[in-house]
Amino acid sequence: MIQVHQLENEGLWYDCITFHGHSCPGLAIGFRVVELAAHTLDFRLEKVLDEELVCIAENDSCAVDAIQSLLSCTVGKGNLILRPYGKQAYTFFNRKNGDGVRIVVRPFERVADREVMISQILSSTLEDLMEIKTPLEALPGEARMFDSVLCDSCGEQCREDKIRLQEGRRLCLTCHRPYDRG
Ligand SMILES: [Zn+2]
Ligand SMILES: [Zn+2]
Repeated sequence: MIQVHQLENEGLWYDCITFHGHSCPGLAIGFRVVELAAHTLDFRLEKVLDEELVCIAENDSCAVDAIQSLLSCTVGKGNLILRPYGKQAYTFFNRKNGDGVRIVVRPFERVADREVMISQILSSTLEDLMEIKTPLEALPGEARMFDSVLCDSCGEQCREDKIRLQEGRRLCLTCHRPYDRG
């Protein structure tokens, strides 16, 4: 593995690799996004509290695992929201003070050698790698509780607001036949 010099939070980078299972350019991008979020929203990476931050990630790539492992943002807790837009853009909110930032990764030249690419990403300045923008949406509300209903076809329990009506029957999304002709 190519040595990364002057990496400010080297131990945390290795924590990311342990969580993700391997080192890769995508994870390196996520790591730098986390660093810039910490700088911009002024929190200490080692001291992020449970549910203190909310992240809206506009992709579901390897990069998101750096956010999950370092910022206590997880899908299960509802403070990591995945929007599959295929964009390297991440919005963070600090629940304590409502501050928010949208971080967009700038286009960069891809090189064939993965290790070289990882090293380039980790050694770039945060400014060269990413752009700081204003969030496109407001801080999402707290996770809501829903009743469950039984699907009229499979009999399995399903969250109420996900149920569809089809020929008078209440169906879950795995039983419902979608209609996409308008
Ligand atoms: Zn990966
Ligand atoms: Zn069903």
